[in-house]
Amino acid sequence: MRLRGIEGVIVEDKVFSVAVHFRLVAPDRIEEVERIVEAVLEDTPELRRTDGKKVFELRPDINWDKGRALEFIFNALGLNDDQVVPICLGDDVTDFDAFRAVKDRGIGIWVGPSPVACDAHYHFKDPIEVGAFLQYLADQLENDAVDSRWLLRYDGRDRSRQGLREALCTLGNGYFATRGAPTDAVADDVHYPGTYLAGCYNRLQSDVADHTVENEDLVNLPNWLSLQIRLGDGPWLRASELEQLEHVQELDLKQGILTRKLRLRDPDGHIISWLEKRLVSMASPHRAALRIEIAVLNAHVTLELRSALDGSVTNRGVKRYRQLASQHLEAIESERIDHETILLHMRTVQSRREIALAARTRLVKSGETLAAEQETIRQADEIAQIFSCELMAEEVLAVEKTIAIFDSRAPAISGPVSAVIAELENSDDFAGLARAHTLAWADLWRIFEIAIETTADHQTEMRLHLHIFHLLQTVSPHSIDLDVGVPARGWHGEAYRGHVFWDELFIFPFVNLRAPMITRALLLYRYRRLPEARRAARAAGYRGAMFPWQSAASGREETQHLHLNPLSGRWLPDVSHLQRHVNAAIVYNVWQYFQVTEDLEFLATYGAELMLDIARFWASLAQYDSERQRYTISGVMGPDEFHTAAPGQDLAKASGLSNNSYTNVMASWCITRSLDVIDVLPDDRRQHLFNMLDLSAAELEQWDHISRNLFVPFGDRDIILQFEGYDALEELGWSALRESYGNLQRVDRLLEAEHKDPNQYKVSKQADVLMLFFLFSTEELKEIFDRLGYHFSPDMIGENIQYYTDRTSHGSTLSWATHAWILSRWDRKRSWRLFEQALGADIDDLQEGTTAEGIHLGAMASSVDLIQRCYTGIEILADTLRFNPLLPDELNCLRTTIRYRSQTLYITATHHELTVASAKCTAPPITIAYRGHVRKMSPGQSYSFRLVRAVEKAEITPSGNQVGRLASLDVAGSQAAPGVSA
Ligand code: BGC
Repeated sequence: MRLRGIEGVIVEDKVFSVAVHFRLVAPDRIEEVERIVEAVLEDTPELRRTDGKKVFELRPDINWDKGRALEFIFNALGLNDDQVVPICLGDDVTDFDAFRAVKDRGIGIWVGPSPVACDAHYHFKDPIEVGAFLQYLADQLENDAVDSRWLLRYDGRDRSRQGLREALCTLGNGYFATRGAPTDAVADDVHYPGTYLAGCYNRLQSDVADHTVENEDLVNLPNWLSLQIRLGDGPWLRASELEQLEHVQELDLKQGILTRKLRLRDPDGHIISWLEKRLVSMASPHRAALRIEIAVLNAHVTLELRSALDGSVTNRGVKRYRQLASQHLEAIESERIDHETILLHMRTVQSRREIALAARTRLVKSGETLAAEQETIRQADEIAQIFSCELMAEEVLAVEKTIAIFDSRAPAISGPVSAVIAELENSDDFAGLARAHTLAWADLWRIFEIAIETTADHQTEMRLHLHIFHLLQTVSPHSIDLDVGVPARGWHGEAYRGHVFWDELFIFPFVNLRAPMITRALLLYRYRRLPEARRAARAAGYRGAMFPWQSAASGREETQHLHLNPLSGRWLPDVSHLQRHVNAAIVYNVWQYFQVTEDLEFLATYGAELMLDIARFWASLAQYDSERQRYTISGVMGPDEFHTAAPGQDLAKASGLSNNSYTNVMASWCITRSLDVIDVLPDDRRQHLFNMLDLSAAELEQWDHISRNLFVPFGDRDIILQFEGYDALEELGWSALRESYGNLQRVDRLLEAEHKDPNQYKVSKQADVLMLFFLFSTEELKEIFDRLGYHFSPDMIGENIQYYTDRTSHGSTLSWATHAWILSRWDRKRSWRLFEQALGADIDDLQEGTTAEGIHLGAMASSVDLIQRCYTGIEILADTLRFNPLLPDELNCLRTTIRYRSQTLYITATHHELTVASAKCTAPPITIAYRGHVRKMSPGQSYSFRLVRAVEKAEITPSGNQVGRLASLDVAGSQAAPGVSA
């Protein structure tokens, strides 16, 4: 009332207080306003006054302010944890308490024309600026969320898992790879700094268990990471021996950059901070670089740095092989090129492959390059430069070590030494290298990314990215001009000696649908080794081409003759070379490549020859059994490596098994496809191949007969026997063994250690018969078995899946993804669990130690292919790209881009809809189909299909396993018609 007479006064009812605003009051009347407010206070002692900007505020006389209000709210709502970051906006002195309350735990923002002294962290002029800032924060949060899908992060050290981390933090580009070991590490029981060149093998002989054996190994090359520091005249430091105040290692999967953040305390109390970035260039395959920012935080020191190329390395990455010879390298020369550059030139002792490395180490302090080299230390197999500089406390020294690496077989060089020198001379600094490198990765991710929306966290996506990342570090566009195959364990370690197995079967289908140029090059690795495969077939008394189980440099059989059972310590005969089914994998891959690309040139020039010569091998391996009136195949092993011979046989005699069903069915399939190929070839090429291979119509007729009459052993209830005699084997006492040993993955080793022969038991290491359901659709299987003259009904699939999954130990990492695939339309929950195991095979080290020796590329690639082909139901039949999506409940949506017959297709699948959109280009039309709805698709077109959800019938079997009927089989009887729109 009393204020009414004063013009410009605004009285605001703020519920818990009353504000008297006087900003519009004439200056000469403000005192009057204040007097009236004071008078009110005198009359009402339970009120107190607080002053704001041109405002007097009257509020209850209790210790209450906005800061306390905030505290109250945090407590009441249970927001007092690190995950909550309060943002407090204020434009008045009454907000200062609130700023104080969030000072150490949130973000305070002062809004006003000019800054004021308070505890707010930021000042913005108006709400528009505030809005922009909040948007920026939201974007950053979004990016961080994306990052966790692309980040492999390790906090703290873990000696027992260091080997695993080094393998998973390997950086590579298809030409070479370097494990993620610290720069100051040498090979010991914890660390293993390995560098490997794709396809660089060397043979050595060793004496073990009274035998001389020869092994061909992927060679561990000089360690270019080598970089150590010391303070004053103290010892050269190793981070692992110092007190760790902080230890974070992050692999950015999107950019291909490894970061190591360390804070260490040495015994003299110096606190050293170390921030390292590392790359192996995906843009320039002969380059790699480190950038390290070093500071000593609490002392002024003289810092010395030792940067080396260390060729004194041997192959000792796999414990089981340590009794074998391991000195694969010899020195040629080492040389100081200039004050920042050194060179090391070495050679593999048997294969005589020369490798040159040059390293440039540059030190920069306060923007100035230091000319600080003190000394060069030269030995035949190691060369190092020592640098020295003064560092004030907290002053940052940036060290950049850039290397070039060439071998004598690299294309487009005169020799490796001149090549490395020229490469380094033209090499940019770290920032420039990183720019080109991340750009190259961005392009690869454009081609290879798969996006999923899950009901779970980001882990699944991160793991998929990790798998694609390591696949691309092993085979990339840089592999195309190299004569390399795809090694089972990546170029990430020495397990399986870098050899190439049938694992291609699990890897190529994913790559085919993304970058078929890479698969084409990898198939040429096989084609170039055709003469060796022909020799091998001849030597074994067969015709055609017999590819080796383990292949390396020449294509000679490289499977070891003896292997060590680490549990018993015994060296045992190794007859796994009897896995002739590797030949079927090659044919399957050629055929798949052709289906995806329609690359007739490749088929006519290389593929058909591979297929025909392998078909001829299968035909010569098959023996006619006149009693059965069928062809049989003996002396082989199937994919299940626990079975090497019939029980009771002398294992050293390599007798193998008779009529492994997988092998026999694949032999029939290979011959059939080879006969098909003849019809696809242009007349002139067909004629030339017939002349060259001396193929006659009579021989083709015989092939046809064999392909229709190969023997497949069956047991009770339509069980396809893994091999002849399998049904007479003993059941394994799973529960008793599990109780004694826990993990039964490698039950073969456990049994052998107990002097028992795994051959006696119905136990498989991995899918064998079930591989057929992995490779072929029901429709294809029906065709195959019809041709062979055997009854086949879709119900048999269920019977066999159940029979063999109950008897499989998953001793190979390949097994999880294969089983997840087979069960995906059958027992979806179990399938997802197996998929998760396949995703965890390496990152969770599910084989308890083997990942440290090299990643499992087959498992990695097939887990991604499961998303790409299995859940989308992609198959190519009769020149039609068929889809039949069935997403697991855990996936809401998946997006993938594939290349099919020169068109780029963007595929989106949800539980209800499939959309296929083709990018604009000049490719010819293709045919796509969803359950009988066939569409011609030209570039630029898009189709959507409403999905029919097949009924999944579930039954509980006596063993308690959930088994359902094949969902896709219910479709035929389904009444619902899918909607189709263009
Ligand atoms: C598996 C083979 C595989 C090899 C290389 C073995 O453990 O049994 O099927 O080819 O590893 O990955």
